[in-house]
Amino acid sequence: MSAISCSKCSTMTERAGYPGWVILVAICLFPVGLLALLAGRKPTTCGKCGFTWNA
Ligand SMILES: [Zn+2]
Repeated sequence: MSAISCSKCSTMTERAGYPGWVILVAICLFPVGLLALLAGRKPTTCGKCGFTWNA
């Protein structure tokens, strides 16, 4: 996991990863499942100000 700074308040926050099912689909349905990586990505939410964005 990597940390990125919030674009609103500049607080360093943990970057959101992929949910478990997305990893599973990507592996089981390779290579078509890789599309799940694009569709299933979770947005990153700042723990301080609550701002949510797609990192
Ligand atoms: Zn913030």
